[in-house]
Amino acid sequence: MDCLFCKIAAGTIPVTRLYENDHVLAFPDISPQAPVHVLVIPKKHLASHAHGTAEDAAVYGELLAAAGEVAKAQGLDNGYRMVINTGADGGQTVGHLHVHLLGGRPMHWPPG
Ligand code: 5GP
Repeated sequence: MDCLFCKIAAGTIPVTRLYENDHVLAFPDISPQAPVHVLVIPKKHLASHAHGTAEDAAVYGELLAAAGEVAKAQGLDNGYRMVINTGADGGQTVGHLHVHLLGGRPMHWPPG
């Protein structure tokens, strides 16, 4: 298993598991870009958002629902941002689909 986030999902690499169910896992980003910076991943390996099929629609829904649960648990009552970097132009650096949940400070637009 070469995938970093698959190893995290499997527990081979330990992380603080902030939210978990059979399909998704949330854990803190190792290099936080905001006071709250959490990654939400599917346990199933999907290389990016572009690699999902119609069969993965339920997992995609689980990712957004889990991010919402984490946002509540982290007290992000004033708002938050979710980001899915996809592919080279999207700035994706880890080849396993993940949602960034960012909060705890005002966000800016447009992103870089
Ligand atoms: P991307 O650039 O692919 O959208 O986001 C990858 C994210 O994974 C980055 O924000 C980076 O800080 C985070 N990351 C990379 N390696 C690790 C790791 O070993 N543990 C954790 N918790 N986050 C990681």
